[in-house]
Amino acid sequence: MLAWRVRRPSTAPYPGFEAREEPTPRPERGELLIRVRACGVCRTDLHVVEGDLPPHRPGVVPGHEVVGEVVDVAEGATGFAPSDLVGVAWLRGTCGRCHYCRRGAENLCPLSVYTGWDADGGYAGFVTAPAAYAHRLPSGYTDAELAPLLCAGIIGYRALKRAELPDAGRLGIYGFGASAHLAAQVALARGATVHVFTRSASARELALKLGAGSAGGATDPPPEPLDAAILFAPVGTLVPPALAALDRGGTLALAGIHLTDIPVLDYQRHLFQERQLRSVTANTRADAREFLAIAAEHPLKVVTTPYPLDRADRALADLAAGRVDGAAVLIP
Ligand SMILES: [Zn+2]
Ligand SMILES: [Zn+2]
Repeated sequence: MLAWRVRRPSTAPYPGFEAREEPTPRPERGELLIRVRACGVCRTDLHVVEGDLPPHRPGVVPGHEVVGEVVDVAEGATGFAPSDLVGVAWLRGTCGRCHYCRRGAENLCPLSVYTGWDADGGYAGFVTAPAAYAHRLPSGYTDAELAPLLCAGIIGYRALKRAELPDAGRLGIYGFGASAHLAAQVALARGATVHVFTRSASARELALKLGAGSAGGATDPPPEPLDAAILFAPVGTLVPPALAALDRGGTLALAGIHLTDIPVLDYQRHLFQERQLRSVTANTRADAREFLAIAAEHPLKVVTTPYPLDRADRALADLAAGRVDGAAVLIP
């Protein structure tokens, strides 16, 4: 099979990121062997390939939005059979015993491991994954449309929960890529008014098409005060304008796993009046199940840009340069 491995961190055009033919992996106890049908390209993959995230497994294969077909079920793996359609997401394992796991916050487990960071992911012809962390997928979507639901969708949904948007509230979304365009649709389906802030003219156009109330530049003031906001762009300088855009008691959730430095905040303008600033850390399996159930019930419009698997480097370069509308998806 073809597999892309991070030999050393590098930036576009990614000389340290190499595709080679190699043997198909074997599933270990509790795992599924999956033939990859589509794998989404997430910004986190870019952080792994460029070295913003410290390497966890040398030479790792990135990719944690995997849609595939089960081809083998190892001993101890339950819930799936050969030829089932399955989704593999970022969260790959937790200890199940620590106090975070026991209180339902497995996303905070200090022993958690991740697909495409601690273990090889889906930028390949085949992948193995623990059955206990694999997902059933909603019908009504193509393979390419399903892929971005598995991280962009799930993380966007968790960020929306962390932003505590009240019913029919006013939501600001900063940055409008794969995750944001899905979270926006979930909020709109629940009666929210959504205001989008992004430097990309084509993303602003997409936002309006999906039903956003307004779409402006990245640091524009909102047309009305916001009850909640989510920062999807990994840009710390957007934190002060996003906090300033909140109404009293509003919450800003930071959706990214990596953020550039946040400038000095002004207590009166940015935090006083009980404005809240919160991070979002990965997701639980319960978040994933809830979001995939929403996607089954409300058909989401998933904007994708397909790339052949052997052009993964190109897909990452386009994502880094902001040239991708919606979600880039690799098709083996
Ligand atoms: Zn744990
Ligand atoms: Zn991701």
